[in-house]
Amino acid sequence: MRRKLAAGNWKMNGTSAALAELKALAEANATAAVDILICPPATLLHRAAEVAGDSAVSVGGQDCHSATSGAHTGDLSVDMLKDAGAESVILGHSERRTDHGEGDAVVLAKAESAIAAGLTAVVCLGESLEQREAGETLDVIGAQLQGSVPDGCTGETLVVAYEPIWAIGTGKVPTLEQIGEVHAFLRGRLVERFGEENGSAVRLLYGGSVKPANASDIFAVEDVDGALVGGASLKAADFAPIIAALSDS
Ligand code: PEP
Repeated sequence: MRRKLAAGNWKMNGTSAALAELKALAEANATAAVDILICPPATLLHRAAEVAGDSAVSVGGQDCHSATSGAHTGDLSVDMLKDAGAESVILGHSERRTDHGEGDAVVLAKAESAIAAGLTAVVCLGESLEQREAGETLDVIGAQLQGSVPDGCTGETLVVAYEPIWAIGTGKVPTLEQIGEVHAFLRGRLVERFGEENGSAVRLLYGGSVKPANASDIFAVEDVDGALVGGASLKAADFAPIIAALSDS
């Protein structure tokens, strides 16, 4: 049985005051039926890990460099993330792929580095609206999975997040059938590549405008093991009902 995961991506949002939201989340979830992950900006990571303490909330990074140290101004290594308290790291988010020109090879190298350091790599995949409308979704997703996910992954080392680019931060959500089609496809590819045991253990998150109002329907879709949530993870009051919907699913 895969343990469900509610993951929050705070992106470039939050200064010290935002730790109050994390505190509220941790206090409400000393224990939980699902895993809860918050990925704050790197400036808050260390304090966020302290605030989360031994609650059911863990913290993670939003990106890392593939090198373990060196002349990479402004970047963070996996050891730095771990040292700050991260247990996971989001990689290949469409905003990184677009804003920083990260292709599959770069994401792959980062994922290898993260996994080698003992972090769980949360690798994001997703098609653009043009690709969806051209009927290329599964080809695009399949190529991204092949190109940006390392060999030898297990349910411990890898989480895959399906995030259609056109659904991120837009309020638009694919139909439940469309989500189900992609997740079934991803599950098949994971099992093909990593074998029945490991491929079945990797958690598949849906991401893109998940809100309290649509969470239950999305979580009822086969092979949706949780969500990667942007905007609705910034406030504990918004994230709590999403966690509750996942716990009830
Ligand atoms: C995201 O940042 O990965 C995301 C899905 O954002 P939102 O929930 O705001 O669409």
